[in-house]
Amino acid sequence: MTLQTLDTGFFKLDGGAMFGVVPKVLWQHLNPADEQNRCTWAMRCLLYEQDSRLLLVDTGIGTKQSNKFFGHYDLHGTASLTDSIHRAGYSENEITDVLLTHLHFDHVGGAVLRLGDQLSPAFPNATYWVHPAHWQWAVNPNPREKASFLPENILPLQESGQLQFLTQKPFPFSDIEFRYVDGHTEKMALPLFHIKGRTIAYMADLIPSSAHVPLPYVMSYDVRPLLTMDEKTSLLKQAAQENWLLLFEHDPIIEAATVEMTDKGVRIGQQGKLAEFL
Ligand SMILES: [Zn+2]
Repeated sequence: MTLQTLDTGFFKLDGGAMFGVVPKVLWQHLNPADEQNRCTWAMRCLLYEQDSRLLLVDTGIGTKQSNKFFGHYDLHGTASLTDSIHRAGYSENEITDVLLTHLHFDHVGGAVLRLGDQLSPAFPNATYWVHPAHWQWAVNPNPREKASFLPENILPLQESGQLQFLTQKPFPFSDIEFRYVDGHTEKMALPLFHIKGRTIAYMADLIPSSAHVPLPYVMSYDVRPLLTMDEKTSLLKQAAQENWLLLFEHDPIIEAATVEMTDKGVRIGQQGKLAEFL
């Protein structure tokens, strides 16, 4: 039974969009912006082995978009999803399950490969898991999120027959439970790993980085920001009380942290690499 993070490289997103109503004078020292006001973010996935199954959580931005598209996001860094899987000692063929927290392109891009003019799942032996209500939301996108739901990342999963819906079939990992949240997008799935008596929670885009722990730090991308604040409040309260470890998908530096209640509200406690906590 092992849980590890997988680096898939960095990208850039507009700092104003990432920090919502929080002014730049407050966020600029947390994640300095470039001359185009873009900040650097990680796309950090997880790999979890339990008994004979191997689970990948999220897949990064992938490789199949155009240079123009990738240029908007200034992909950089030397890591890639496939390299990180190999470095962890596995091959793509050994992945039995892929959990997609949601279907925005920076989470699902690596799930599908383009070979010539063919699109096919990058993990040929895996079952791909998505919440059914999120699937419906993504394949009939609203105008606000439409640019984030790219059909070439999504539709080949269903066409391959490898798609399975969370809540409709038992998820085959007994140590994982789910929290579903609706503020960032409809029914985003947050996996909670119960390992050695501790809860380790992958925060996906509910709390994308350690800078987003304080309550007002909510992304402008969220479709229901007030709901995100409610969801953060209840999750962070429980995380502080039960000493959870939170994993940040997009934090460029900090992989994992505990949180604690302070006079100013919830704040980061201990922080470091996931492996330092296990
Ligand atoms: Zn997202």
